[in-house]
Amino acid sequence: ANTMNASSQKLENPDDLIDSVETFIFDCDGVVWKGDKLIDGVPETLDMLRSKGKRLVFVTNNSTKSRKQYGKKFETLGLNVREEEIFASSFAAAAYLKSIDFPKDKKVYVIGEDGILKELELAGLQYLGGPADGEKKIELKPGFLMEHDKDVGAVVVGFDRYINYYKIQYGTLCIRENPGCLFIATNRDAVTHLTDAQEWAGGGSMVGAIRGSTQKEPIVVGKPSTFMMDYLSQKFGILKSQICMVGDRLDTDILFGQNGGCKTLLVLSGVTTLQMLQNPNNSIQPDFYTNKVSDFLSLKAT
Ligand code: PLP
Ligand code: CA
Repeated sequence: ANTMNASSQKLENPDDLIDSVETFIFDCDGVVWKGDKLIDGVPETLDMLRSKGKRLVFVTNNSTKSRKQYGKKFETLGLNVREEEIFASSFAAAAYLKSIDFPKDKKVYVIGEDGILKELELAGLQYLGGPADGEKKIELKPGFLMEHDKDVGAVVVGFDRYINYYKIQYGTLCIRENPGCLFIATNRDAVTHLTDAQEWAGGGSMVGAIRGSTQKEPIVVGKPSTFMMDYLSQKFGILKSQICMVGDRLDTDILFGQNGGCKTLLVLSGVTTLQMLQNPNNSIQPDFYTNKVSDFLSLKAT
């Protein structure tokens, strides 16, 4: 998997790759679906991999939904995927806090959407903020002082279409006034593809607001950080060399696989084009690339 500087190979013999690993980690958007649309041939490909006894895991940096909500999305798209196989960055934030034994009497301030709240709740953690603060405004009068809850021990920042100045100031106060307060980012994607008409500001923009005001660097739990990879390999008892990471993005998915010491496969069904992959300025080279995951099937038939 250490092909950082070698160039990647077009996938010619998917069977060799399939036989060489026991687990496939699939990124979601751009690999399994695009927005709300299933990508062609995905159900058949997943069925084939399962019939060969492969473990399938799904990882997404999109923190707006919980793994349960993603379970529904997979079901709606006709995919046979269980909640326990899904690892979203919303879940990663809660799993991280659990892994460090975040005290149950402390609270988490959330800049983000519903998915993060749902996961914190399932983890038995107290939280405030989130969508409830979406309508809050600050009325600046002379001498106005904004209060904040002194029991906040972590600020979790994810993609938030309702971010406002209140949330930014609240999160900033928590981190600045309590030196022990953690700053956790679900992901730092620069852009996202809410519609295919243009690129939209991603979770990195909300994280950037808090970096800017606190001058602190977040603990990132989503791709490309190794947290999820370590978590998965521990949970399922899998060797990282027995994993193939399949993704459409170089700086999140492929880097995530490489940081974890896994095999990597780039699919061109999402945001990365062959031109971008082969651009001399791009230093992130997956082991293999192919057009879409269903090439696992069609290449086999030829
Ligand atoms: N964050 C947001 C808000 C998104 O909408 C998306 C994609 O839809 C992502 C992150 C990236 O998701 P993934 O890691 O599944 O490609
Ligand atoms: Ca993706």
